[in-house]
Amino acid sequence: MTNHVVSLIRSDRAATWQEILSDLITDPQELLRILELNPDTNPYSLEALDKFPLKAPRPFVERIEKGNWHDPLLRQIWPSVFEETQTEGFVADPLNEEAFNPLPGLLHKYHGRVLLTAAPHCAIHCRYCFRRHFDYQANSPSRTQWEEAFAYIAADSSIEEVILSGGDPLAISDRQFNWLLQQLASIKQLTTVRIHTRLPIVIPQRITTELVRCLAESRLRLVMVVHCNHAQELDNAVIRGFRDLSDVGVTMLNQSVILKDVNDNADALIDLNKALFQHNVLPYYLHMPDQVAGTEHFYVTDQHATELIKTLHASLPGYLVPRLVRENPGEPGKTRIA
Ligand code: SF4
Repeated sequence: MTNHVVSLIRSDRAATWQEILSDLITDPQELLRILELNPDTNPYSLEALDKFPLKAPRPFVERIEKGNWHDPLLRQIWPSVFEETQTEGFVADPLNEEAFNPLPGLLHKYHGRVLLTAAPHCAIHCRYCFRRHFDYQANSPSRTQWEEAFAYIAADSSIEEVILSGGDPLAISDRQFNWLLQQLASIKQLTTVRIHTRLPIVIPQRITTELVRCLAESRLRLVMVVHCNHAQELDNAVIRGFRDLSDVGVTMLNQSVILKDVNDNADALIDLNKALFQHNVLPYYLHMPDQVAGTEHFYVTDQHATELIKTLHASLPGYLVPRLVRENPGEPGKTRIA
């Protein structure tokens, strides 16, 4: 535990999201100590850590079961030795995003909407991430480059929606976020801003009064797509954040990735989607994992995923069954599998 966290505990004051963000667990030995796991029983890959370091926020780690190597949350952040396996078809940029990157920080893949990489980092490193090899440094726009991105959007009247992605768009400060939202609100033809974020799940303290106020006051229709893969990721603080956001009219959706030995079973997916709905979040997408180099150990087959969706349809009302999709490079939208 860092001196900073010790002094917070002594002062009896809850840590702010910025303090939590600056005190992420990055040392695997520390994570193992907290989780009471013996490193000799499950080696990790130092080489994988060089390429994509460990990053885990403490509020997320608190939800991992101690002493359990097979915990579904641990599996999402623990660097496996299998990340070094080279598998044909698994590549650094499976979606060929470079081809749709006309300006730094702006991806224009789909008709009617563009994606802005609003922050060059995330609060967590998900080992299966499809952007784990993405060049965020080259996609961190300066103020001038932001102006160019806004001009690009304003000049194309077909663009009605902006997707804020990342990294994690909520990793920027409230002041920066407010500025970004105001700039977008000033572009006449924009109707909607969609925020793709994992922060409300991994550091729920991010849902500050200031952020909620700025969302409530925007003229834009706001959609927040959180990224939650397992019901164990939801605790009281996360649920409070969902409520605060939906109370001010933000449409709350969830997307998950289907991941081997994390949530690739019907019970896990049923529990997750029921729990989300209880707290005002509707299931949106269940993504097939992208074929990213170093992530094959998370991959599930189309047949297995399709069977799971059939079971979900037999067990849940239709509105609680997410759409099973895959992104194929060059296609004008996601491809529905089942
Ligand atoms: S939060 Fe999203 S973008 Fe960030 S590492 Fe996880 S999957 Fe990737």
